[in-house]
Amino acid sequence: MTSVDIAIIGAGAAGLAAGKACQALGKSFVVLEAKDRIGGRAYTESEIFGTPWDCGGHWLHSASVNPLRVMADELGVEYLKRRSFLNLHLHLGTGWADAATRAACDAAMEADFDASEALGRAGRDVAVVEAFDTGGRWFRLTDHMSEAISALRVDQISTLDYHHYSDTEENWPVVAGYGALVAACGAGVPVSLETTVSAVDYTGAGVVLTTSKGTVKARAVIITVSTNVLASGRIRFTPGLPVALSRALEAVPTGLANKVVVQFSRDVFGLPETSNLYFMDERDATRPARSFQIRPFGQEMAIDYLGGAQAVEWEAAGEAATFDATKRVLADVFGNDILKHVTKMAATSWGTDPHTLGAYSCALAGAAGQRAVLGEPVQEKIYLAGEAVHPTWFSTVHGAWASGRETAEKVAAGLG
Ligand SMILES: Cc1cc2nc3c(=O)[nH]c(=O)nc-3n(C[C@H](O)[C@H](O)[C@H](O)COP(=O)(O)OP(=O)(O)OC[C@H]3O[C@@H](n4cnc5c(N)ncnc54)[C@H](O)[C@@H]3O)c2cc1C
Repeated sequence: MTSVDIAIIGAGAAGLAAGKACQALGKSFVVLEAKDRIGGRAYTESEIFGTPWDCGGHWLHSASVNPLRVMADELGVEYLKRRSFLNLHLHLGTGWADAATRAACDAAMEADFDASEALGRAGRDVAVVEAFDTGGRWFRLTDHMSEAISALRVDQISTLDYHHYSDTEENWPVVAGYGALVAACGAGVPVSLETTVSAVDYTGAGVVLTTSKGTVKARAVIITVSTNVLASGRIRFTPGLPVALSRALEAVPTGLANKVVVQFSRDVFGLPETSNLYFMDERDATRPARSFQIRPFGQEMAIDYLGGAQAVEWEAAGEAATFDATKRVLADVFGNDILKHVTKMAATSWGTDPHTLGAYSCALAGAAGQRAVLGEPVQEKIYLAGEAVHPTWFSTVHGAWASGRETAEKVAAGLG
């Protein structure tokens, strides 16, 4: 049996940051990771296309205050310092929108998001859709972007939770991948890979963890798995988790977002590198809006991004249908001919990944206050950390990192 001060479950951003803090504070610890790799939802894949792409987090949000941006500078890791939607193009099914139409679309979407923010600021905890102009011309795009940002349906997302999110509106993509940056930041933290924790017993002094590689005894445990993984019962607790915490896990679910990547043999778009595309088909009002990254960092790729209801439907439809739908939109915008130049496609399915069961957290309408419950320790032995726990940077890599580090510091101080 391994015996340590602190056991850390998960080697995503939060787990790695917690491990790093334990190292700095001189506490004995183990990091137990179910997968055969580190990074969790911050993972850069390089083999499929022979070039890096982020399966999960890709933007350094709130870059000027983001601790990973600071570490990127120290490590000499390159990122693009720009607004997230620079080079944004809008296609309406019948053709490209002109500048005036684009401006009207931007203004309408901004008004929707401002209205949602105003409700939250006023303390109203209702679904964001209540703030949106649902009959307006651009609602389909607001709907799409809101679900991509928050990963739940617009009739589920809490205005108060949305308001609590702190954002400098600097979203800087990492050239060689955000997942690769997280791995570099966590390098030096020993991790026990392919070590699934199935049970946590906290009946006696400290905690006893049952893992696929044996038993671990610790004075306290930091759990960084997603709220959906914890709510699923995949880790059994003895005694059971407090009712208030179980309720909070249900009230702050891990919503869904996914990417479909299409690689081409040459430039088929005729757009500058790292462009963005909004698509809203005005010929068919039933067709949901979509958004793509086009030619990220000059790679001949299009990355289709869907969140919330669209991402759920997408996983349910299966890979073939998903690929077809993505190709159909690209062909509508750039012409059928481009399909001849498709070399490869890949898609994520974070909802069916047993170690994440979703993409990022969002409080349900009426339940914004439940996020704080996630951060309350159980008997000063069980501490949750990770993106869902951070009060203002939730849903993000930097929120996960900060939560992991701060939680480890708190636990270490408590242990003395
Ligand atoms: C499609 C997508 C796009 C995103 N875009 C962005 C973005 O642009 N910018 C941004 O900042 N964020 C983004 N995010 C969110 C960001 O990736 C996550 O919020 C963050 O990486 C979560 O880190 P974490 O450490 O809290 O959790 P995780 O990364 O989920 O880490 C938890 C770890 O626990 C492991 N685990 C699970 N169960 C067990 C078990 N029983 N035993 C042992 N280990 C276990 C998991 O394998 C995982 O490695 C995106 C996410 C997705 C999916």
